[in-house]
Amino acid sequence: MIILMGGQGVGKGTFARMLRERHDYTYIETGKMLRDAAATDKTIGDIMARGELLPFEMLTKLVTDNIPTDTDVLMDGFPRTLPQAQWLVEQYADKFDVRVIYLNVPEEIMIARIQKRIREGGGRADDADTAAVRKRLDIFQSETMPAINWLRTVPNIQFADVEVSGAVDDNFRNILTALEK
Ligand code: AMP
Repeated sequence: MIILMGGQGVGKGTFARMLRERHDYTYIETGKMLRDAAATDKTIGDIMARGELLPFEMLTKLVTDNIPTDTDVLMDGFPRTLPQAQWLVEQYADKFDVRVIYLNVPEEIMIARIQKRIREGGGRADDADTAAVRKRLDIFQSETMPAINWLRTVPNIQFADVEVSGAVDDNFRNILTALEK
């Protein structure tokens, strides 16, 4: 199980695509799953539009319902909080070889990349709202960083901190090197 972690605009989606071109993973992208769910559930859509997180139980159910028993898994968007990370390790660390890749970039670069995504028109609806973008950055610092820092310390999983401020291909090479270790 590969877990991609990192703030907005770090290139999680791009690197997930590049990894999937090289290997067959069951791809669990919670943001996309929740955006699909939001199409018929206004409450979910409203929470996402504000840049806030959805409840723990909703996420653990989503993961439980989609986790395979016989293929490798690529996680994108989960875990995002310390309780989610602890749950994941408790449920799956003995079933999978868990590798966390923390895509590390300074916040200024994250902001610049989101702004570029908006200018180029490829952005998502929740990117266009400055307050929601700010909220997601704040939540990354307050909720997701503690999860990342805890995962660093868990003995039976592998954790790699990969600096991804450079060119996409160089960054991807560094990710592959981290995965080979
Ligand atoms: P993403 O596409 O990964 O940026 O996710 C988009 C939105 O989906 C987030 O801003 C949250 O509202 C929601 N979401 C995705 N993953 C999670 C998660 N692990 N926990 C709570 N909410 C999530």
